[in-house]
Amino acid sequence: MKIYNTLSGKKEEFVPIEEGKVRMYVCGPTVYNLIHIGNARPMIVFDTARRYMEYKGYAVNFVSNFTDVDDKIIKKALEEGVDASVISKRYIEECKKDMDGMNVRPATTHPLATEEIDGMLEMIDTLLQKGHAYVAKDGTVYFRTRSFNEYGKLSHKNLDDLQGGNRSLLVSGEDQKEDPLDFVLWKPKKEGEPYWDSAWCQGRPGWHIECSVMSRKYLGEEIDIHAGGEDLIFPHHENEIAQSESANGKIFARYWMHNGFLNIDNKKMSKSLGNFFTVRDIAQKYDLQVLRFFMLSAHYRSPLNFSAELMEAAENGLERILTCVDNLKFLLTNSKEEVLRPEEETLLQEADSFRVKFEEAMDDDINTADAIAAVFELVKFANTKADGECSKALLEGLLQKICLMTDILGLIVEKKEEILDEEIEEMIEARQAARKEKNFAKADEIRAQLLEKGILLEDTREGVKWKRV
Ligand code: AMP
Ligand code: ZN
Repeated sequence: MKIYNTLSGKKEEFVPIEEGKVRMYVCGPTVYNLIHIGNARPMIVFDTARRYMEYKGYAVNFVSNFTDVDDKIIKKALEEGVDASVISKRYIEECKKDMDGMNVRPATTHPLATEEIDGMLEMIDTLLQKGHAYVAKDGTVYFRTRSFNEYGKLSHKNLDDLQGGNRSLLVSGEDQKEDPLDFVLWKPKKEGEPYWDSAWCQGRPGWHIECSVMSRKYLGEEIDIHAGGEDLIFPHHENEIAQSESANGKIFARYWMHNGFLNIDNKKMSKSLGNFFTVRDIAQKYDLQVLRFFMLSAHYRSPLNFSAELMEAAENGLERILTCVDNLKFLLTNSKEEVLRPEEETLLQEADSFRVKFEEAMDDDINTADAIAAVFELVKFANTKADGECSKALLEGLLQKICLMTDILGLIVEKKEEILDEEIEEMIEARQAARKEKNFAKADEIRAQLLEKGILLEDTREGVKWKRV
């Protein structure tokens, strides 16, 4: 399997540190709001990479953090007059629901920044002791960027260019820093903000240190793959490398994978342009499987444009696969012949050539666009060859091959059972009755059953509301 490594700027053969095992870290979202469809892209593409590596027989230890302390979370908490943890807990729960809807599997571990402060204090202390960091007058701890000789190796920037780009900082006088290139490891608290005690000041961590610490704790000092969106290459990932390699004295990650950006109608997604969509917005209109299929229809490193037309095309494409699977299942229940006939053997061999194509595409830097093309070829083949005369063995063989590929892509190819409005109302009534009897376990169970059928309940002042998610 080849992977494009941002570090070398080349596709490289993937060789894990430990045979048969993959240690992978993906930078997760900052939880201050519902996740948007841009955040969904790394979740979907790296979940697919994980599934493919597992298919190839690797045991994948997959770690992805939630950044649960940050300026945006604190701002929202102040606006709502609640603790920052209320905001982060709420949006972690919501994010997990969206992940589930997109069939993104939970990570092996989802560490939270606020639960890893001790590890951060320890790493910062090591960096201070090794001369890679210093404490400013107000207790801020900075990383001494020039002390790490290889700074810039990931983003292919050189320090003097960066210095030029940062000139304004010199003029405006970030007076506490020895050098404008230095970045924050720990900063003093401000009024009303969450804080932790430390040897330098009561305060909170800078953003970059959490990933260096969590990656080391859950995966070890050296890992195989570190991934995230391309906006993270600089400064976030560059700074993570500087911290980890300075503290541990070892190469941090061997392969760096970055997904391209998702744009809307060829423009950057932004709230001010009014072209900002959360995953929940999309779920109002489409099954989230369509969003997943759409994301995988392009190579993960290419920029991807989101538009209503492209989503319609994805919906139709996915429908073609679902219909074929449905049809094969129908034929299978009606087929009389059990065993494969001799002439069917060649058909199955031919069908297998599409699996080979699929794997070749996935082996080539997880090229899901070409992999999906192979699925379509197989669907077309199955549509032309499968009929009422086929043996069960042939139909099963075709079905298995399609499902093998769709499973790797994380696509659910079962048509969803439709649940009628009346049925929902009846279940809501049963839940209300259970609550009246103070049978909360039963009420919760009904709520969970509904969620499984894609129905989300909201208890509002005006009563219970429901929506399809
Ligand atoms: P954030 O919460 O901003 O740190 O983002 C979480 C993840 O989503 C990171 O890996 C980002 O690189 C990624 N991301 C954010 N916006 C986009 C976008 N428009 N397209 C693709 N990836 C994005
Ligand atoms: Zn990170």
